[in-house]
Amino acid sequence: MGSKEGTTIYDVAVVGGGVFGTSAALHAARGGHRTILLEQFQLPHSRGSSAGQSRITRLSNFGTRAMTPIMRDSYDRWKELEKESATELFLPTPLLTVGPAKTIKKMATEMKESGARFELPTLQEVNRRFRINPPGDTTALVDLTGGILMSAKCITALRSMFEAAGGQVLDLWPVRGIEPGPVVTIKGDKGEIRAKAVILCMGPWTTKALTGLGVQVPIWAGKTAALFWKIKDPKLPSFSFVDISVQNAYYYMLPSIEYPGYLKIGLHASKEVDPDNREFVDVSFLREKVTKYIKKVFPGVDPKCAIEEWCIYQRTPDEEMVVDHLPNHRNIVYASGFSGMGFKVAPTVGEALYRMALNLPPKFDLSFFSPKRFQARSKM
Ligand SMILES: Cc1cc2nc3c(=O)[nH]c(=O)nc-3n(C[C@H](O)[C@H](O)[C@H](O)COP(=O)(O)OP(=O)(O)OC[C@H]3O[C@@H](n4cnc5c(N)ncnc54)[C@H](O)[C@@H]3O)c2cc1C
Repeated sequence: MGSKEGTTIYDVAVVGGGVFGTSAALHAARGGHRTILLEQFQLPHSRGSSAGQSRITRLSNFGTRAMTPIMRDSYDRWKELEKESATELFLPTPLLTVGPAKTIKKMATEMKESGARFELPTLQEVNRRFRINPPGDTTALVDLTGGILMSAKCITALRSMFEAAGGQVLDLWPVRGIEPGPVVTIKGDKGEIRAKAVILCMGPWTTKALTGLGVQVPIWAGKTAALFWKIKDPKLPSFSFVDISVQNAYYYMLPSIEYPGYLKIGLHASKEVDPDNREFVDVSFLREKVTKYIKKVFPGVDPKCAIEEWCIYQRTPDEEMVVDHLPNHRNIVYASGFSGMGFKVAPTVGEALYRMALNLPPKFDLSFFSPKRFQARSKM
């Protein structure tokens, strides 16, 4: 970047080239706004939350109800993006969820209300159809709308569309400081960028950036592992799986996509890290827990971990995202804390961020996702 960008005033600058930043940037560029996307690493990279090639998408929701319409909207948008990009982004794959009866009932009620297709098999049926041994104290729901998003291809498609819409990408451009104002100044090692509105989608680095802006939010960076395990049972059907019966965590499984003949089976849990500290942090407890789980639940899978890949993601106390304006600066918005479930909602949240930053009327009520919910809790 030379001094040229320093004289330009962009309509929108987006910081963070993960799935959320790229999606928000695409919406801004398509809205006719002069938009720049800034990323600290060389794109594509595997150092944030969007790394890897597969993510579960679904309409069944075991989180807050405020997320249900957002999940629905995004589900349709990924399919539109798939059509537009003429790339296979979505692979229909039934999703089996097992968990406490109360949560499964809530999920089924919401799916029924919205006309989404699902089944409620008994655990014996689950065992017969999916060739697994579900934990005995659980109830099952099969989300027939479930699917796998080809995540790396999704981000490539979003970025191509952004550039085709006139957007500009600057990678290897770490943002070091942000000066709010009617025109925001973004400072980096290579110069300054000025923009009328700024969208921060900085993933695990969000807390650092917000602290620099005087904002405290309970979001932290966690190191986790994507683990791959060899299939032994040639008759194992293709499906994805989530077990939400575990306290403060869940086990998940994605079918054989990233490495043929291997399933991705993991535990949504992590160790807190500083995303800029490159020292080794041991997360072997994940592999140990998943090994034990596979021995109990997946008789058709070799319980010896074959491949281990690490990544860092952003977590919040209630596992729900945080989306808001900066206090006193409505032209700066941020979104983070997507934990292990955010990828699927990026198209809709990306548009919401763009609309918030430019003060356009919202399409969805995102008030639940303000960090104020944590203040309300700590007063209880
Ligand atoms: C193992 C794993 C499994 C998952 N499974 C699923 C799933 O099945 N389904 C699902 O929906 N979701 C899933 N998720 C969650 C989902 O992948 C994330 O919520 C999503 O990718 C978050 O994207 P992001 O854009 O917020 O963050 P990131 O992808 O981390 O992007 C943030 C970007 O900001 C950049 N950045 C940060 N600081 C700066 C700076 N100062 N200057 C410039 N650039 C900066 C970073 O380099 C990074 O590229 C999973 C996540 C993980 C880790």
